[in-house]
Amino acid sequence: MPVLVMKFGGTSVANLDRIRRAAKRVGVEVAKGYDVIVIVSAMSGKTNELVGWVNETSPLYDAREYDAVVSSGENVTAGLMALTLQEMDVPARSWQGWQVPLKTTSQHASARITEIPTDNINGKFAEGMRVAVVAGFQGISEEGRITTLGRGGSDTTAVAFAGAFEAERCDIYTDVDGVYTTDPRICEKARKLDKIAFEEMLELASLGAKVLQTRSVELAMRYNVKLRVVSSFEEQSDEAGTLVCDEEEIMELNVVSGVAYSRDEAKMTLISVADRPGIAAAIFGPLSEAGVNVDMIVQNISEEGRTDMTFSCPTDQVARAEKAMLDAKSAGDINFHDIVADTAVAKVSVVGIGMRSHAGVAAKMFQVLSDEGININVITTSEIKISVLIDRKYMELAVQALHDAFELEKTAG
Ligand code: ADP
Ligand code: ASP
Ligand code: MG
Repeated sequence: MPVLVMKFGGTSVANLDRIRRAAKRVGVEVAKGYDVIVIVSAMSGKTNELVGWVNETSPLYDAREYDAVVSSGENVTAGLMALTLQEMDVPARSWQGWQVPLKTTSQHASARITEIPTDNINGKFAEGMRVAVVAGFQGISEEGRITTLGRGGSDTTAVAFAGAFEAERCDIYTDVDGVYTTDPRICEKARKLDKIAFEEMLELASLGAKVLQTRSVELAMRYNVKLRVVSSFEEQSDEAGTLVCDEEEIMELNVVSGVAYSRDEAKMTLISVADRPGIAAAIFGPLSEAGVNVDMIVQNISEEGRTDMTFSCPTDQVARAEKAMLDAKSAGDINFHDIVADTAVAKVSVVGIGMRSHAGVAAKMFQVLSDEGININVITTSEIKISVLIDRKYMELAVQALHDAFELEKTAG
C-alpha cells in the first residue's frame, strides 16, 4: 500500500482533544488506503519546559543528559496518539526513536540522521498494522545514547521517514495554513504562498522562519520528497497549504519572496585583539569546540596592530562563548582587553531567488531601515539573501516595513 507521512507539531497535539482531532485526520488517510507513518512533537510548551529544567539544574550541561531529558516530551504524545487511534479501531502502535532504530551521529542536541532501517515498521504494516506512530526529534547514537536533532527537529524526522519509506507525500500539520511571505503572527499583511522553491525555503528556515526546520528542507531537496505544510485546524483538501518544490515548478520567481527574522541573537565583541595571521582561527576554533554556533562575523579596521572582532550567536550560547574565550585567554592563545555581549539584538533578512538577477535589493533594504531610523549593526549577504543585525526593539517594525517596501502583500499565491 502507498505510504503517507503526517507530522503533527506541538500545538496540533497540545491536549487530548487536539490529539483526537489529529487522529481523525490520520483515520481519513487510512480510509483512503494509505499506510500512515505519523510523526509527533511534544505537546506545545513541553520541550521549552524541559530545556528550562536542564538549564536550571546545570547551566553548562552535559549534552547527553540534555538529550535524555528533552527527548521525553515526544514519548508521551507518541503513546497517546497510538492509544487514540486504537480507540478509533485503527490498528496502530508507537515507536520511540531508538526502537526504529533511527540512527544518528553523536552530536548531541543537534545530531544528524544517518540511517532509518525500514524492516521493523514494514514488517508490522505487512501484519496489518495501519499506522506507525513515531516520536519525532529523537534518535540513538552509535554509542547507544539518546540524541535529539535540534529544536524543531520533528520536521526532519518526518522528511527523513518520507525519504526512507518512499512516501507519496510528507504533510507537515501545524498551526498556520502554510508558508507565508513572513511570519503571519507579526505582520498581518503576510500572504500565504501556494508554492515555494526548496532553496528559498531553505534560506527562510535557516534565517529563523521556524515553520520548517532547515535540515528537513535540505533532506526533502536531496531525496525529492513531496513536502507540504498544512493547517491542523482546518479541513484539508489534497491541494491545501504550501507545496515546497523545485524552482522549475514555479511560474514566476519573485525578486524578494520572504522576510525572516530571528529574535534570539546576541552580538559579542572581543575588544582589542592582536591583528595577526591566525587570530581568527584562534578565536573561532575554541568557539566551535565549545558548541557555539557563530553566525555573522565582522573584523573592524586595525589600529596599531590591534582590532575588535564582532560575531553573533544564539543568546543561550553567550555563557559558553564567554567561557571559551576566557579559557583561550588564560591558555595564552588569544589576548583581548574585554569581551562585551549585547543580548538585545535580532536578525532580519530578505530572501528571494530573483535577487540573483536583480541588483539594488540591498540598497533598497538599507534605505527602508534608514527611513525608519533603524541602525544596522552587522550585515551579511549571499546570492539570494541579505541579513542585518539590529536592535531587537525594532525587529517587528523592520519586518513590516520591508514587507511593505518589497510589496509582498501583492505576491501571487
Ligand atoms: P509546530 O509546533 O507545528 O512545529 P512551529 O511553531 O515550529 O510549529 O512553526 C509554526 C510557526 O512558524 C507559526 O506559528 C509561525 O508563527 C511561524 N512562522 C515563522 N515564519 C513563518 C512563515 N514565513 N510562514 C509561516 N509561519 C511562519
Ligand atoms: N519538540 C521539539 C521542539 O520543540 C521538536 C519539534 O517540535 O519539532 O523543538
Ligand atoms: Mg516546529
